[in-house]
Amino acid sequence: MSRPPGTAEPLPYVEDPFLGRRRSTREVRVGDVGIGADNPIRVQSMTTTDTRDTQATVDQTERLVAAGCEIVRITAPSITDAENLRSIQAELRRRKLRVPLVADIHFTPNAAMIAAEIVEKVRVNPGNYADKKKFAVIEYSDAAYREELERVADRFRPLIRRMKETGAALRIGTNHGSLSDRIMNRYGDTPLGMVESALEFLDVCEDEDYREVVFSMKASNAQVAIQAYRLLAARLEARAPGEPGYPFHVGVTEAGDSEDGRIKSAIGIGALLEDGIGDTIRVSLTEEPVKEIPVASALARRAEARWPKPQEASGVTVAAAFCEDPYAHRRRETDAISFGFGIGGDAPVRVEVDLGPVPEEPERLAAEVATSLALQGELVCEGLRVQLGDAGSRAGLTLLAEELKALGVTAPLIVDGPLEQAFEEPAHLGARVAIPTSGASLEDLSDAVRALARRGQTVELCLEGPVQSVALQVDRALEALAASGVDDALLSVASPRASHAARVVAAKLAEPGSPRLPILLRYMPAADADPQAALLAAAVDLGAPLCDGIGDAVCLPALALGGAGAAVDIAYRILQGARLRTTRTEYISCPSCGRTLFDLEETTARIKQRTDHLKGVKIAVMGCIVNGPGEMADADFGYVGSGVGKVTLYVGKDVVARAVPESSAPDRLVDLIRDNGMWRDPA
Ligand code: SF4
Repeated sequence: MSRPPGTAEPLPYVEDPFLGRRRSTREVRVGDVGIGADNPIRVQSMTTTDTRDTQATVDQTERLVAAGCEIVRITAPSITDAENLRSIQAELRRRKLRVPLVADIHFTPNAAMIAAEIVEKVRVNPGNYADKKKFAVIEYSDAAYREELERVADRFRPLIRRMKETGAALRIGTNHGSLSDRIMNRYGDTPLGMVESALEFLDVCEDEDYREVVFSMKASNAQVAIQAYRLLAARLEARAPGEPGYPFHVGVTEAGDSEDGRIKSAIGIGALLEDGIGDTIRVSLTEEPVKEIPVASALARRAEARWPKPQEASGVTVAAAFCEDPYAHRRRETDAISFGFGIGGDAPVRVEVDLGPVPEEPERLAAEVATSLALQGELVCEGLRVQLGDAGSRAGLTLLAEELKALGVTAPLIVDGPLEQAFEEPAHLGARVAIPTSGASLEDLSDAVRALARRGQTVELCLEGPVQSVALQVDRALEALAASGVDDALLSVASPRASHAARVVAAKLAEPGSPRLPILLRYMPAADADPQAALLAAAVDLGAPLCDGIGDAVCLPALALGGAGAAVDIAYRILQGARLRTTRTEYISCPSCGRTLFDLEETTARIKQRTDHLKGVKIAVMGCIVNGPGEMADADFGYVGSGVGKVTLYVGKDVVARAVPESSAPDRLVDLIRDNGMWRDPA
């Protein structure tokens, strides 16, 4: 296991990277609800109403609870808001609702002190509890830094003492976008900075012997969130080896709305849950909060069903790590193979679609595929896979290939079938032939590889099934390639434990002397997955390895995702969510809360309408001027609510227009994009 930046010793963040056992934590009680230990993953959300509007906040809380939300967070931006939490709680009790409440605090320790007497949990942001963000560049000496820490501790300690008295729990909720200037100057806006920021606050808690602490490490970039949570898990383990750690609240912040918001959340949250990290989750969507609950529940229940039993072991031992550094993203280095546009090497992660078995009416399938792919415009399908069965399907395959060609579909064909297909003449129409490694003798496999290579077809060796079986298949595949003298090959992975199986393959390929083969990640939907479940599962199964730096191509099944075009669309969204291939505008929009001064969902939709053709441009749409600018992360442009009907516009972190009327703000934003040379007219 490699080491995190800034530390001398290797720190493993997970016991077995091929298994994903749940991280051991203590239980933190939040009212009637336990977080961590053996409790299920708790699903939570946040109200978007004005906290002073008791009726609206209670009504929304009631809707959230009815949808399955187990903990509800409410913003407390002022003392008045904090005091009104009492009325909200009383009204909830009157309606017989005992859902625990969390007060969300930014910048206002006074409000936190009041909230701690009322609600079951208080969330503080270490970036702004005792600091104002000025983006100041300061070189701190060690003594000056220590002094700053003492100042922060003096400000924070009274809250901890109050919470010890009242029994309230605490979330130390670090956000990537709102680190203090002190942390930024010493560590930069890095996962390490996020972790240090949180641990400074934990030091005060432990100094006061207060341990009812839950942590979060949110970022709008799923990769950054994953790295920060991992690093925190490792650092906490190093502080108290072998002891149950503090539970984690896991989420990707400002994920946006619709499919992109769901995919980005599923990648970040899902990747962490695959490693057993996460005790309560929130999916932050720029939509009605009640819509977050089914997404969060689906992710939580899927992860719980996959977590291994205490006696289970992966049984996999590999002499190399699955990635160079789990605390920083680096794509695995491979040689490129010659297939279509090229896979591996410097090529972007390719997008392929699995059409399933060759049907009885190939003409109809070809017409559907051609139409749906044409609708995707610039999103190119870079490989079409078909499953070959009996002799009948071989005739159908010829027809399908001819029809696709006639209809102008240029994606190269991949034929996936039994080992025997490698020896038949003509050897199909596939530019690439996929053969199974499982169940084949080394001799047969080597002969098949040789036969395909002789005909100039790219060889794909399919590794399928449980993780232990995939580990054995990699060895056999590598032996067969060595025996046949072929090195222009691709390994594909299809496993119900997709992320762990991908790691096994990457680790085996990292062993000394192994070839640098590219890896294709194939998403295999569960038989009973509905489209929403399939979308989320695909984002987890493909996104998690991609964030580990593993994967040179992805393949999604057309049938389970609503057709070839839809599968291509989802694949590119996943690649963008994992920050690996940008094909659209990137939106960073907050979920809104009681601080929001306009209809964020509607505003975001309006801005998207004007800008969603600006590939690669990052636009933040944030609900308030207090927190929004800090949390816009690496957006190119910011659209931030700053008063009723008023918007402040940013280029990067710089304010360029204040108090712009909401009616004209989208036009001004477009002008700004144009002035900064990033505009192009829609096609
Ligand atoms: S940025 Fe959005 S979610 Fe965050 S505090 Fe402001 S309005 Fe609320």
